[in-house]
Amino acid sequence: MPLHLETPLLESRPLSQASGRSIWLKMDALQPPGSFKIRGIGAACEHPARNGKQRFVSSSGGNAGIAVAYAGRRLSIPVSVFVPETTTDRAKALIRQEGAEVFVHGASWQEANERALQAIDAETAFIHPFDDPLLWTGHATMIDEVVRAGVQFDAVVLSVGGGGLLAGVSEGLDRNGLQHVPIIAAETDGAASLAAAVTSGKPVELPAITSIATSLGARKVAERAFEITQNRPVDSIVVSDRAAVDACLRFLDDHRVLVEPACGAALAVAYTHADRLAHFERVLIIACGGATATLAQLQAWQAS
Ligand SMILES: *Cc1c(COP(=O)(O)O)cnc(C)c1O
Repeated sequence: MPLHLETPLLESRPLSQASGRSIWLKMDALQPPGSFKIRGIGAACEHPARNGKQRFVSSSGGNAGIAVAYAGRRLSIPVSVFVPETTTDRAKALIRQEGAEVFVHGASWQEANERALQAIDAETAFIHPFDDPLLWTGHATMIDEVVRAGVQFDAVVLSVGGGGLLAGVSEGLDRNGLQHVPIIAAETDGAASLAAAVTSGKPVELPAITSIATSLGARKVAERAFEITQNRPVDSIVVSDRAAVDACLRFLDDHRVLVEPACGAALAVAYTHADRLAHFERVLIIACGGATATLAQLQAWQAS
C-alpha cells in the first residue's frame, strides 16, 4: 500500500479570479508529512524495505527528511537524518516527531551529506531528496490522480528545487498521453538553479543559495530536470521572495492552508504573474506544501 494519500483536487475561485482563468489546485500540501515529497520518497523507501534494508539515511533538513522519517515510522524501519547547523529547530522537531534520529553536522548541506554517506553500510538505504528515478515514478502518481478525476488542463505550474517534482510531473504527463502539455517551472530569485541551467545550456552550480525558499535551495538541478527542459515545453519563471511570501499569506486566507515560500513560488505565478498564463484557459497548480514555515515566520519575512 502506498504511503501517500490521494489528495483533493479543487477549482480555486480566489486564484481563478486573481489570474483571470480557471485554476485547479492539486492539494499535496495535505499529505501527512506536509508536502508532495512522500509520494516519491514513499516509493523510494518501500523498495529497499522489501529488499531487506534495516535502516534509512537522509541528509535533508527539510521536507525530504521529514518524509523519510514518516516513511520509516510507517514501515517500522529506523531513520537517521544528518542535517547542517543551519537547520531550524522547527525542522529538527518535525523530523524527531516522526521518531527519527537527527544528527547535526557541518555548516552546510554538503558537509552533512558527506557525513551521512559515511554512515551507510550494506544494511542501509540512502534516500536522495530529488535525484532518483524511483522518486520520480512516485511523484508521477499526482498526475494519474488528476487524470483519473477527469479534470482537463492545458498547463501545469510547479516549483523547482533539485527538479524531482518536475521530473515526476513530466513522467506523469507522459504516461497519461499528455506530453504536449506545457510545464511552467517556478523558482525564487536566489534559488534559480533550473533557470541557470536553461541559460547555460547545462546544469550549473549556483555560487550560493540566497533565497528564503530553502526547500528550493539545490545549488544544481538534476541532469534529468535539465533534459526535460530540452525535450518538452517548459517555461522557466523566477519570482521574488517577496512575491512567494505574499502568495503564501494570501493562500492562507483564501484556502486556509499554510505552505512554505517554496510552494508560494508556484502560487505567485497565478497571484502576481498571470501574464505568464496568457495562453492557457485551465491551469493545474501543484500546491506542493512544505511543513517547515510557521505563520510567525511568514509574517516576519513579509515585514523585513
Ligand atoms: C522539495 C520541495 C520542492 C522542490 O522539489 P524538487 O523535487 O527538489 O524540485 C518544492 N516545494 C516544496 C515544499 C518542497 O519540499
